[in-house]
Amino acid sequence: MLMLKSQKGPFSALSCPCSIWLACVLATLWFSALPTQAQNQPVRVIAFGAHPDDCDLDAGGLAAKYAALGHKVKFVSLTNGDAGHQSQHGEELAQRRRAEAQEAGRRIGIEYEVLDNHDGQLMPTLEVREQVIREIRQWKADIVIAPRPNDYHPDHRYTGVLVQDASYMVIVPSLVADTPPLTKNPVFLYFSDRFKRPQPFRPDIVVSIDDVIEKKIDMLDAHVSQFYEWLPWTMGRLEQVPKDPAERKKRLLTWMSSETKNVKGEWREPLEKRYGAQAAKIQYAEAFEITEYGAQPSEEQIRRLFPFFPVLAPRP
Ligand SMILES: [Zn+2]
Repeated sequence: MLMLKSQKGPFSALSCPCSIWLACVLATLWFSALPTQAQNQPVRVIAFGAHPDDCDLDAGGLAAKYAALGHKVKFVSLTNGDAGHQSQHGEELAQRRRAEAQEAGRRIGIEYEVLDNHDGQLMPTLEVREQVIREIRQWKADIVIAPRPNDYHPDHRYTGVLVQDASYMVIVPSLVADTPPLTKNPVFLYFSDRFKRPQPFRPDIVVSIDDVIEKKIDMLDAHVSQFYEWLPWTMGRLEQVPKDPAERKKRLLTWMSSETKNVKGEWREPLEKRYGAQAAKIQYAEAFEITEYGAQPSEEQIRRLFPFFPVLAPRP
């Protein structure tokens, strides 16, 4: 802090609130012209969750769709999940969950990294913010996905804050100087959620995952410690978990059906916007909100970054 005070100058964005404001305005102008995604270049997506299974639940279908088309997806868990079990704890559980996450990623063809921060103790520190900045830069992300900063779980909330705090710094060369900065700000998206305050989630981009729902279930199925042990235990339903592997997956599918019932409700309109009449038949979907902090994509850029939507005939 003392050092920053002594470095005041007209180009020291860090030392003067006005220059920060100016830098932000210029960045918005310069970088709102999003990444020109050359037709044959893969889209690069990175998603951050607090725990090793969070990204899978909210974007596992989207990731499977990208991977099937040869695009590049990485999921990052900011904690190692070492508090998420009724009988296993600490390093033993962290190792188990890291292996589950890597198996989940392998099943759909994406990378999965689990950072070694403790579960239930994540804080929005400078150290973790720098981990996030490094991850986004190293992945050369076009799209970054994270939870909104309002959520019931402090780890989820702070994951949202940490990614939000990284969303401009990824292009600032003086920060995290050991990793080259991005030259263009990515598009930052929020996962969907059901929280209403201070404002509800807005489904800007809703993607049908009907064609990959089996892959998503397969991915979730890799997290044995969570979907067949910890979560049923927290709900007092551990005895109801089937022993048969095929029955277990059927349960997950039923659960997914109820989780995406929004396809008939609030997500219907954005689905119709991009799928037209086909929207009525869609059963499973994942939705995302475009944040105000990164590049602001035009409709044309959205269709380039999300190469899943049909070309609709113009309305008469
Ligand atoms: Zn979580």
